[in-house]
Amino acid sequence: MSSPLDKLRAKAEACDRCDELVAARSRVVFGDGPVAKGGLVVVGDGPGPKEDRRGRCFLGAEGKKARAMMAEAGLDPAAAFWTSVVLCNTGGRAPLPPEVDACKFRLRRTLDILRPRVVLAFGVHAARALCVSAPKTHRTMRKLHGYIYDVGLKVRGNRQVITVVVPTWPPRYLVRDGAARFEADCREDFARAKALLYGAQATGAWFCRELPVDYGKGAR
Ligand code: SF4
Repeated sequence: MSSPLDKLRAKAEACDRCDELVAARSRVVFGDGPVAKGGLVVVGDGPGPKEDRRGRCFLGAEGKKARAMMAEAGLDPAAAFWTSVVLCNTGGRAPLPPEVDACKFRLRRTLDILRPRVVLAFGVHAARALCVSAPKTHRTMRKLHGYIYDVGLKVRGNRQVITVVVPTWPPRYLVRDGAARFEADCREDFARAKALLYGAQATGAWFCRELPVDYGKGAR
């Protein structure tokens, strides 16, 4: 019998909602990793040509760098489930708002099934897609970074916390000129994610509560 995640994967593989992405994809890059509740889920923008060819998320030098930095911070990349805001080849560009909207239900359903304790949202599109009730959903990454977001579901009117979202810089920022300051931020974000994963219990709200994080230099 197929699991809820298998059913969702099968549905995504048959999806044709984004004309341009469907034309550019050779496969749907659904995501991969262990299916265990209470763990870590990593969400990026979307697959590019490399990921499309190999059917896996976060490949290339940027993916390697992100995994190495996570491991240094005590987060096991192999224990995380890796997925994206959109699942079809964007050709390396950012996903467009209608594409994010089209794929958002699938992303949230993935999290409903996996029930992670922590989501690392790599980049503004992942952060915006997950932190829906943030007062300003058009916020830039510079504004979103430096906060964590309690994200949950309303079950019969009651708020039930599922997970905490930690927005961080996209991996491509870690392999380009001027990467040092993004690396420093990411290290702090990964340490925060580790503390949330193995320590403090999440509290609070897909309603969504914004909690400032003290990074020692003030939230931006
Ligand atoms: S990106 Fe998502 S919504 Fe768009 S075609 Fe692919 S699976 Fe469907």
